[in-house]
Amino acid sequence: MRKYTYGPFQSRRLGLSLGVNVLADYKLCSYNCVYCEIGLTIKDNLVSPSYRINLPPSPNFRKELLSILRYVPHLNSITFGYNGEPTLNESLLDFLNIATNVRNNLNWTSEKPLITLFTNSSTLYIDKIREKVKQFELVLAKLDAANDADFKRTNRPHHNTPNIEIIIESLIKLKQEMPKKNKLAIQCLIFNSYKEDFTPNNNSTNIHDLAHALKMIQPNIIQIYSTARIPSEYFVYAIDEEKKREIAAIFKKIIDNDKIEINIY
Ligand code: SF4
Repeated sequence: MRKYTYGPFQSRRLGLSLGVNVLADYKLCSYNCVYCEIGLTIKDNLVSPSYRINLPPSPNFRKELLSILRYVPHLNSITFGYNGEPTLNESLLDFLNIATNVRNNLNWTSEKPLITLFTNSSTLYIDKIREKVKQFELVLAKLDAANDADFKRTNRPHHNTPNIEIIIESLIKLKQEMPKKNKLAIQCLIFNSYKEDFTPNNNSTNIHDLAHALKMIQPNIIQIYSTARIPSEYFVYAIDEEKKREIAAIFKKIIDNDKIEINIY
């Protein structure tokens, strides 16, 4: 019986990826995104970004990783995320250290798999969290909105979450603090709405605000994508490929930096 890992599975953005869950077997998150593919964050599990849970890895984590990784020498990523926001676990670095140690002691077909972290970015204003996050080789940080109205509608953050300006500032700091060998990717999930009185984040103001925020953050990579599975709210649906290309063109023009990769999925 596996407790910590999922897959490996082929991921659109990461290649062959083994998922690692560092939280419990229920969702715990500081957001309740309208498009979340693991369902709504129920009231008791919607927590402040300053909330911490301490779930250290048991010895089974190492055993579980070893038992899977020795059979996938072509793996591309060991990916921390799933069941909510992984930085809420105080013991995140203990998991990272074990995964790095196991990865470094195995033989790989070509490149070693990257150790990757998904974060919703809500906790990054805390210096101690950025210290941990910057140690991951690839950080996939969420930024779906760049003004408070779109942020609140899209991500429905816990009421203690700082405003979007502070989150953007913390992403700028994270990029500056990250060692050059590690990479920051900003993920923008853009969606449409069937509900007339719900403005989706696919609106011109938000797309332009996002472009200006990304220009300030200067990430290594920008990923534009949309929903691919069933969203938690029935009225959310995916933008089409043409729209993704249009958004990428707006980002490219405003950011005006060819060193930043802009990818659509
Ligand atoms: S941050 Fe991720 S896990 Fe949390 S509600 Fe949003 S999509 Fe779901």
